[in-house]
Amino acid sequence: MIDFQLTDDQLALQAKAREFALNEVLPVSQHYDQTGEFPREVIAKAHKLGLMNLGVPKKYGGPEYGQLESVLVVEEMAAACAGMTTSIYVNDLGTTPIILGGSEDQKQKWLTPLSKELQFVSFATSEPGMGSDVAGIKTTYSRKGDAFILNGNKFWITNGNHADVFVIFARQQGSERHQGLSAFIVPSDTEGVSTGKPLKKLGHRASDTAAVILRDAKVPAENILGAEGTGFLLAMMTFVKTRPAIGAMATGLARSAMEYAMNYAKQRDAFGKKISSFQAIQTMVADMYARIEAMRLLTWRAAWLVDTRADGNIANVASSCAKLVGSEDAMKIVTDALQIYGGKGYLEQYPIQKLFRDAKLYQIYEGTSQIQQYVISRYLFKEYEPIMKNF
Ligand SMILES: Cc1cc2nc3c(=O)[nH]c(=O)nc-3n(C[C@H](O)[C@H](O)[C@H](O)COP(=O)(O)OP(=O)(O)OC[C@H]3O[C@@H](n4cnc5c(N)ncnc54)[C@H](O)[C@@H]3O)c2cc1C
Repeated sequence: MIDFQLTDDQLALQAKAREFALNEVLPVSQHYDQTGEFPREVIAKAHKLGLMNLGVPKKYGGPEYGQLESVLVVEEMAAACAGMTTSIYVNDLGTTPIILGGSEDQKQKWLTPLSKELQFVSFATSEPGMGSDVAGIKTTYSRKGDAFILNGNKFWITNGNHADVFVIFARQQGSERHQGLSAFIVPSDTEGVSTGKPLKKLGHRASDTAAVILRDAKVPAENILGAEGTGFLLAMMTFVKTRPAIGAMATGLARSAMEYAMNYAKQRDAFGKKISSFQAIQTMVADMYARIEAMRLLTWRAAWLVDTRADGNIANVASSCAKLVGSEDAMKIVTDALQIYGGKGYLEQYPIQKLFRDAKLYQIYEGTSQIQQYVISRYLFKEYEPIMKNF
């Protein structure tokens, strides 16, 4: 039995997220894109509506949604503004290592406040010298009495300037590659922790991105997540859970690009006809719709696998497929949508250029498309069992 029907609760959640996206996000998305201001008020509304910290367990005051519910929410939000959605959803990226690797005391202490007040939790693996190669982290830690001392520079950290808490990945001084990595909960007001200016970006301008600098930052020993040396695994397990959401954001953005393009095609005349009457335009739009359907199905299946068998490599590969296909197809769809706008698509006053700029990030963060291809091909060459064995 296979069933693609959402439950009443899931439909209600989807409707709530859609209403929030249409009424609170869409009307101000151009403003925040143009000014680069941080949309704290809009995010506060998402928080109040329970559309943030989606995976936090009920025991700690959260809604304890599965990934399937999360992908429903973020598809709707990203259809209205990709940048705001990134800044809202990144709390789930930040809290996932705590949910997966934290002790009972750590969960009580760091997760419980999140439902009561708006707090930002940022996730930091990347550094100026590495992003894809997580085992290449250079930020170090060393034990000193009842504390760990962290030193290094993190880069591209979403909500960095607004974070109350960072989950920082660092390596034991002198260690090499995967085995030396651990994760730490680091409050942003820790002495020795500072952030750089907001980084100016091509898109996702409503989302803050910043460097985080650690200079002899003293973190209580009790803030280490899990056993020492488990940081790499924790980072990878986190990505397995959160990558379907990037596929879903790409789906939402692509859906809006298609809708803008169709609307424009119905109004624009060329050669004495509406351009929507040209088969070349119809073919492009049909292709967009088919791809969006496929993107959504991949994200739903990956989310379902994560919810039902999160430890399996099957979920890992499905998660990478959802992100890879979602982000690549979103870029293709928004490129075609801009093409349908012709010269107007290239002007700032039309909305499609924002979607074009925003879409690009999906191919880069939480593992580039090439890293997703690496995850998938490693599975294919190491584990995949061919059906036709008699070559
Ligand atoms: C707006 C924004 C927000 C971000 N938010 C966060 C955040 O909150 N927290 C965080 O930790 N990071 C964050 N990142 C960082 C992001 O995850 C990295 O930029 C990304 O992982 C790529 O790393 P890199 O930029 O160092 O590129 P590199 O790793 O240097 O890669 C450069 C190119 O080489 C390719 N490449 C690298 N290795 C391989 C390989 N083995 N095989 C094939 N190709 C390869 C890549 O695909 C890419 O095309 C953010 C980035 C941006 C732009």
